[in-house]
Amino acid sequence: MVIIDGKAVATKVRNQLKEEVASLGAEIGLAVVLVGDDNASRIYVRNKINACAEIGLKSTLVELPATATEAEVLDAVAKLNNDNGIHGIIVQLPLPRHIDTDKVLASINPSKDVDGCHYVQKGKLWTGTPETLPCTPYGCIELLKHYNIEISGKHAVVIGRSNLVGRPLAELLLRENATVTICHSRTSNLADITKQADILCTAIGQSKFVTADMVKDGAVVVDVGINRGLDGKLCGDVDFEKVSGKCSFITPVPGGVGPMTVTMLMKNTVEAYKRNR
Ligand code: NDP
Repeated sequence: MVIIDGKAVATKVRNQLKEEVASLGAEIGLAVVLVGDDNASRIYVRNKINACAEIGLKSTLVELPATATEAEVLDAVAKLNNDNGIHGIIVQLPLPRHIDTDKVLASINPSKDVDGCHYVQKGKLWTGTPETLPCTPYGCIELLKHYNIEISGKHAVVIGRSNLVGRPLAELLLRENATVTICHSRTSNLADITKQADILCTAIGQSKFVTADMVKDGAVVVDVGINRGLDGKLCGDVDFEKVSGKCSFITPVPGGVGPMTVTMLMKNTVEAYKRNR
């Protein structure tokens, strides 16, 4: 069994990006919009800003208070859309409840949407002409490719159907010619389906939900979940201790998919610059 080292793969991709950014010799700007003071969001935003510094991108943090109105958030995005020094925009989610998230995401100029969240980007992905891939699913596919894991012809089962992770991940696996099954909270006989998976991906948000009896011997397991276990430690959707004994490859949490998400955001920003310069 191989533990997929997301940190190592992320470092390799970041080093390549660092060289590319230096050779482009341009100031490439990523703007991060943070509304409110959610602790987890602050940590994610700090990681993004640190990653920009690491590879040589210019980051701009636009902070608004939790009391900001929807109009103020839309106005902040509009200013970034019109700023020629900004090549990528990401709005940190979740937004406060009084703000319509879909409306804010739809207000981002699609060519600057480096998170692949805009409906134009999603439409392009679904119609077979992808431009900017959603960062987390993109990171999952890059991990599989890095480890030379065959996707074509395999049965991939994705648990989770969110717009952010589950659905686009299923689409990317389909593009790689996997046969894809999507499961969700209303799926009957979930374990019967997951046991058929050559590649099992979980994006559920429930600690250690996937147990060894749900996994086929020799399966590849990609755990997207980031949860706090009963012991207060970070853990995934998969019971790593027990499941790892059964699979051929598995991503740990932390240190698996997580480091790839921010890295693919950096890659998407560089690509957006190159497309739009
Ligand atoms: P959502 O809550 O939006 O979606 C969760 C999905 O899981 C839903 O489709 C839901 O089904 C399904 N689900 C929930 N419970 C069950 C169950 N008992 N059986 C089967 N399916 C179930 O979460 P996200 O997709 O945004 O995130 C999922 C996880 O991934 C979270 O832990 C999140 O923190 C993590 N994450 C990690 C990232 C990373 O960089 N590693 C990035 C983004 C997210 P239904 O649709 O029927 O409700």
